Parts: sequence; C-alpha cells; structure tokens
Amino acid sequence: MKVVFIPKAGKSDYALAKSYRPITLSNFILKGLERLIQWFILEYYLKEPLFRQHAYTKGRSCDTALSTFVDDVEKAIYNGRYLLAVSLDCSGAFDSIKFDSAQSCMEEKGIPKNIIKWYMNILQHRTVDAEVQSFRATVKPARGSPQGGVLSPLIWNLIMDGFLSRFQQGPVKVLGYADDILLYIEGTEPASMGELLQPALDDVIKWGNYNGLTFNPLKTHTILFTRRRCTLKFPNLTLDGTKLSYSDSFRYLGVEIQKSLSWTKHITERANKCKFLLIKAKNIISTKWGLTPEKMEWVYKAIVRPKLTYGAMIWAQGLNKQDNAKIQKIQRLALLAILRPLRSTPTAGMEAIMGWMPLKMHCTEIGLCAYLRIKTLITQRWDGIGKMSKVMGHIHKWAKLEDNILSSNIPRQPKISEKIWIDQTIAPIAQKHFERPLMMYTDASKERENVGYAWCACDGDFLIEEKTQSTKGMTIHHAELMAIKEALSWIKQNGNHERRTIIYSDSQSAVKSVNGIVANDPISLELLTLLKEVLSKTLVEIRWVKGHSNDTGNEYADYLAREGAKEAENIQTVYPHLPLSQKTIKQMVHLGVIDRWQSCWNSRGDCNMTRLFIPTVRENKLSTRLNQNELKNLAQIITGHGLFKRHLRHWNDIQDIYCPLCGEDTEDPWHLWDLCPVLDEQRASINREIEKGLLWERGLIKFFQKEQLCILRAENEALLTPS
Ligand SMILES: [Zn+2]
Repeated sequence: MKVVFIPKAGKSDYALAKSYRPITLSNFILKGLERLIQWFILEYYLKEPLFRQHAYTKGRSCDTALSTFVDDVEKAIYNGRYLLAVSLDCSGAFDSIKFDSAQSCMEEKGIPKNIIKWYMNILQHRTVDAEVQSFRATVKPARGSPQGGVLSPLIWNLIMDGFLSRFQQGPVKVLGYADDILLYIEGTEPASMGELLQPALDDVIKWGNYNGLTFNPLKTHTILFTRRRCTLKFPNLTLDGTKLSYSDSFRYLGVEIQKSLSWTKHITERANKCKFLLIKAKNIISTKWGLTPEKMEWVYKAIVRPKLTYGAMIWAQGLNKQDNAKIQKIQRLALLAILRPLRSTPTAGMEAIMGWMPLKMHCTEIGLCAYLRIKTLITQRWDGIGKMSKVMGHIHKWAKLEDNILSSNIPRQPKISEKIWIDQTIAPIAQKHFERPLMMYTDASKERENVGYAWCACDGDFLIEEKTQSTKGMTIHHAELMAIKEALSWIKQNGNHERRTIIYSDSQSAVKSVNGIVANDPISLELLTLLKEVLSKTLVEIRWVKGHSNDTGNEYADYLAREGAKEAENIQTVYPHLPLSQKTIKQMVHLGVIDRWQSCWNSRGDCNMTRLFIPTVRENKLSTRLNQNELKNLAQIITGHGLFKRHLRHWNDIQDIYCPLCGEDTEDPWHLWDLCPVLDEQRASINREIEKGLLWERGLIKFFQKEQLCILRAENEALLTPS
C-alpha cells in the first residue's frame, strides 16, 4: 500500500510528523472487497446502530450528535440544574489501534472467524510504502488501521463500542463521534456530580491503556453548564493524575458551545472567519480571473455561506439581536461586492433585487430541514419547556416552527426501509423463448395537484386492454409506480401465464426502484410484493423506454395518463399516507420561508421605493444574466439610492426636488418609470420590448439610459459638485 502525506491546515510547524495526515492508497480491488465485507457485517451483525455512536452510522451525523447533547444541556440548565461535561481528545486514534483490540472487538460482535482472519491478515501483513521528497521507505506497521481504508471506521467504531456501551446505565452519559468522546452528568450538586464523573474518567484511561490509546489532559475540555451567574466551587476532576481546568466554552464538532448556551461566541468566530474568507476570495478571483457578479455569488453561496450556517439546527433559534446583526453583516458585505451600490443602500433592498433571502431566514431554512431530516431519529427526553423562566429547548422550538411554516397536512410517517429479495430467475426458463411477448406500457402525468396514471396492453399492433386512473396530491414518481402496480395486477388476474410480458415505463426512477430491493414507502412495498408474487407464476420484465420518441405504445399510455390528470380535476380524494421525499419536504420548507420573507418585506418601515419596483420577493439568479455595470445601475434605480433628487436632498442642500420634466411630483425613479407623463412614449416602447421577451431588469436599465433621463441624471450629478 502506498501512503501519501497531506499537510493539515493551520499548523505552525510543518517539520513535525503530526502536521501531516497520512492517507493510504490501496488497490481498488481490495477496496471493493472491503466494501462487500462492510455491507455484510452491517447487514447481519450490526443491524442496530451502536450505542451512542454517531459517526459512520446510517441515519446519524454531526447534527444528531450535536442535537442530542444540546438537548441534554437544555434540559438540565433550563430546569435550574447543572450539567458537567468533559470532552476528551484521543491522540492519533486510527494510527494507534492495537491489532489485538481489532480482533477481540470483532469476535465480540460474533463476526465470522474467516472474515476476522482475513482482516487481521491485511492489518498484520501489509507493507506501507512512502515517498517524501525522493526519500523512500517501506515499513511493516505494528499497529493502526489504514487511514482511508474502507473498513477502518467500522473497526474503530467497534473498538469504541467497548467503552461507550459501558454507560448504558448509570448517571454518567456518553456520546461518541469517531474518536471524539464526550462524558457528562446532570445534577443539582456540582460536588457530587464530580464524584460520580471521576470513575468514568479513570475508566477511559484504563480502557485507553488496554487498547493502546492515550488521552491528552491538556487538550481535554471541562465545562460546567449553568444559567446561574454566581461563582461556585468547581468539582476537582483529574485525568491520568493531571488536574483538569475549567473553561467557559468548548468546541464540540465544530460548534462553540458556551456554558450558558449563548451562541454569541460561536457566531462571532464564524462571522469573522467568513468575513476574512469573503475578502480573500474576492481578491483572489479579481486578480486571477476578473471579478464578475456570477463568480462572486458562487463564492458566497457555495463556500462562505455554508460555513456560516453549519450547525444551524442547534443555534439558529437561539440567537439574540446582536448575533443576527453579525451574520447579516456578512451578507451585506457580499451584496456590496456584487452590486457596488451607494454606501447608504439598505441591505433588505439589495436582497430583494438579487433575490437573496435574509441570512437569518436562510439559517432557519437550513435548520428546519436538518430538524425534519432527523426528527424521527432523535429522542427528546423532556417536554422541551424549561421550568426556569419558561425557556424552550431547540427541538421544541423547531417542532413549533414546523407547525407554523408547514401548515398543510403533511403525512408524517417515518420512512420505511424494507428489503424484498426478488429472484428474477425463478420463472420457468421455457417462457424466455416464447416467440412474441405481450407488451404493456405505463405512464403517469401530473398537472398541478391533479394526477393521472394509466397502462395499456398490446399484442403486436393490437390494443387489447387499457386502464386509466385519477388521483390527487401524489408525486409523479409514485404515480409512475402506481401505473406499474396496476399493470401487474392485471397480469396477475387476466394474464396468460404461459406467455412472457414486458412492461415499458418511461420513468427511469420508477424502473430503478422496481428493480431495486429496498422499499422506502408503502407504494413501492406493495409494488415489490406484487411483483414477487407475479414472478412466481409468469415471467415479467420491466424495462425503460425513452419517452416522447414516437413509440406508439408509450405515446398512447402518455395520452391516457394526461386524460386521467384532466379527469382528476373533478375528484376530491387525496392518496393518503405517503411519506414525502426529502426533496419535496425541502421544497415545502423553502416556500414556507419565502412566505415569511414576503411578510417581513411587506411590513418594513424602509425600502419604500424598492417595494414599488419589487412587490414580491423571490429567489433570483440575476448575477448570471446581468453584468457588473448593469447590476450597479439597477441597484441605484430600484433602491432610489442614486442620482435622483429625492435621494440627493438627504445629503445636499437641494430645495427644488420636483421633476423638471413635468413638475408634478417629486423626482424619484418610480415617478420616472411609472408615472411621469412626459415619458409616456419612451415607457411604451420599453414595455413593448419587455413583452417581446426583454428581461424586465434590462428594460428598466434601458429606460433610464434614454436621452432625457441621462440629461436629468447628469444635471443632478452637477448639483453634487458645486463649481
Ligand atoms: Zn415627471
């Protein structure tokens, strides 16, 4: 195996071995085999996720680990109690694993001997080649599992489980995320909490010694969570003989958690980092490729903003005014770089022009989506409402917001995941050679909420049977599955079992899920069960056909489905009990948050001019369509912060602010664009162009470039610079 060394970012001394991350590059065949073994182990020996381990586990993530911990902290301190936590740093986890520990943890889980033998063979007999600056070395490691190895995380989790599972009972709780171990205890008496936690710390050391792992007391963080302000005596805790010192906050999985659960420190740190990143990115892009609005928007949305919203699920609802102002400033900075407006232009106006949701709302969207993704996986162990000052926990707040934002009746069943093995070879072989198969075509169609699905059966050129059904509210994917299901039902009842059938669907996703083995929702479960039954009697194949490609059968099924969707207009029934896909939920959250943005926009005291131009906020991709100058111009026109008399009077002693063209009203962009009678002709010509397909924003800019208006703005500019 070959090892490469990747320097870790932000280290002060790159002469130390610790400043590099060794990554093993192994043979892809070995990787494939490892992957198979991993599936096998997960499928048969680790059906249940490991106790309190959140890394490399299906359905668990940083979000679930953070949320579980913060929920426990909230429960303690919002009810007037304390929570004492120790976060341990395990040095060089993967590199230090003893081969013996790997072997015994696999044995404990009952993994077959030959697999253990095989893996131990890899561990013990691999040689590692490394080349650093033309210096080559080949070694046979005596411990550690390969970094980057497919099975390494799983083996690590199994070893860790030996420690974590000791805390299934008792007052001390544990939380594991890869090599990150968090031990904590809740209570009313810090001194006695310390006494109960100390044995757990001694245990860690003992377990570590046994497995060849060490913990650094200097990198261990100890923190006593409380909402009380008074200073109290911290209980004495030691790790391997070293006294642990307390701090006011600590970083857990990338989020800075303060002892009072205020997020100010986290937000301040993140905001500073993002600001730095934004400025740096701007400089790099402008020197290397020339700064365009499109590139800047990309940098902001793909790199800077996600850094800021990380962990939003646990903090987004707990921010104070100042925190919100701090994150909003980052968005303003990005907007200024793109629009280059006058400095006085309000952020909200620029957001409306660019179609960027206020950052606070974006955080809400990210947090709510994360909450909905994991809500069936996290267990809240309290009602979420603190007895002390009636504060609410984050999970409780999200649940309330969910009711608020997603008010429509969404089915809330957890996703199912049932495996159905279908042996496609069990049908009588002879049928495979039957001269001409029966052809069936299925299709579905969706028009707003109205859904139609249909199938038809053809024998050569003859249509022998067809069926169309209508429903409401189903996703197109599910409707495609329903069509296939109906076709199968017909085969089951009326088909000639001697003859093979081919069902054609033009939906790739439907064909994929029919040929898969995992049913994620009731419809695919019903469908797969039916398919299995039909296949035991006759041979059916489900194939994909390209839609709208002049295939008569497919075209006819398409026609039937569209008729079905039209028919659905008259029915009320909504197909019940379907878990929504993540994509649909995301979409619903997005629309809900946009609604909030709109009502915020409507009720603002400022941005009156912008609201005339943009009454309805929406997500926009302006930067890809307009260039820097156009955007700059647009910002001035739409916000009114530009060379218009109404704006100029704020900072210059201008008495006459009436429109010099008509003299009827104050001269501002809306008057010129929408009202001024003198400009009727120019207005009409621009409107004609917009009707013919000119981008509205471009039309607006073009209008303000008409001769009369250019003169007007030049005159206004002259007012600014007194001769
Ligand atoms: Zn006028």
